[in-house]
Amino acid sequence: MTAPRDTVSRMTVHHLSLPVNRPRDHGSGTVAGAVEIVLLRLDTAGGLVGWGEASPWAVFTGTAEAAAAALDRYLRPLILGADPRNLAGVMAGADRTLVGHPEAKAAMETALLDLLGRMSGLPVYALLGGRCRETIPLSVSLADPDFAADLDLLARIRAEGVGIIKLKTGTKDHRFDLDRLERLRADHEDLDIRVDYNQGMAAHEALRRLRDVEAFRVSFIEQPVQGREREAMAALTAALNTPILADESVFDPEDAVRAVRDRVANLFSVKIMKSGGPRRGLAVAAIGAAAGIACYGGDMFESGIAHLAGSHMIAAAPNISLGCEFYQARWYLAQDVLAKPFPIDDGKVIVPETPGLGIEVDEAVVRAHALTSRDHCA
Ligand SMILES: [Mg+2]
Repeated sequence: MTAPRDTVSRMTVHHLSLPVNRPRDHGSGTVAGAVEIVLLRLDTAGGLVGWGEASPWAVFTGTAEAAAAALDRYLRPLILGADPRNLAGVMAGADRTLVGHPEAKAAMETALLDLLGRMSGLPVYALLGGRCRETIPLSVSLADPDFAADLDLLARIRAEGVGIIKLKTGTKDHRFDLDRLERLRADHEDLDIRVDYNQGMAAHEALRRLRDVEAFRVSFIEQPVQGREREAMAALTAALNTPILADESVFDPEDAVRAVRDRVANLFSVKIMKSGGPRRGLAVAAIGAAAGIACYGGDMFESGIAHLAGSHMIAAAPNISLGCEFYQARWYLAQDVLAKPFPIDDGKVIVPETPGLGIEVDEAVVRAHALTSRDHCA
């Protein structure tokens, strides 16, 4: 029996534009000026507040407008009146009600988990099965079209203890990628370097070029070809010594099953914005674990709220063992929406131990950057 005070009595959908520090080039497109995200605030009649985030990217998962409409119109009848203790049933309803829109579903599930944590006094990782790690090694991505600016960033983050970087490759030409790798490896013998093509290679050129890349001892090569080019991914996985990591090829548990069956990759990137929430992210990781596939904690262009949700998920997933890339809230957004800085210390994310997601939202920042805000009461 649900007490009315524990159910969601009000929901607010904010569509934000958050300014970013620098332009960034990826194999699939450039980001500059600002990123758009959608924040979901849920209130219970008893006075608790939970937050979730949808952070789509138009060339990858979808648009902010679609995520806002999914929450505000199509998922609203499921959200208003929901009891967070019925999370699995509510999210199954979301999948029956609306196809796709994984970012909107991630926001919905995150906000319900945040509420459930505040109701129970437990951190979100405890609701997801309990933690296997207290900190997560942090990787910072280098994607500035001006490589000198990336070298400045690298010097700063190394001084703060970061030991992993991911170089975004496949944006200009192969020589540009090799020159940058040569410089990075020469200057940083001990750095854990990964590369991410964001689908930027032509399949027919990939094997020869990736053999050049292997000379720089990168620890994995992420998504060299198009997500749908699974046969090409499998061929590269079979031919190369360096592990291939699937990002755009593996969104959700169904993709993960196919990727295992077809040996598409050695490693998976798990992102709540691809899977549709932390619980389905854990399912991707579990399928990987059963097949001997280690996972990496990826993200989109996120604020600290989505970073927190991802951190709790990774804390509860033994085989998301390759670190995470939750650096944007601290080093890429001009201003984050969290009231206290997203917790990073000595090159690691510190998973919060306080109830729910663990850090409050600064609503003045949310209002300052909101393009639209719509709220509804039960
Ligand atoms: Mg990627």
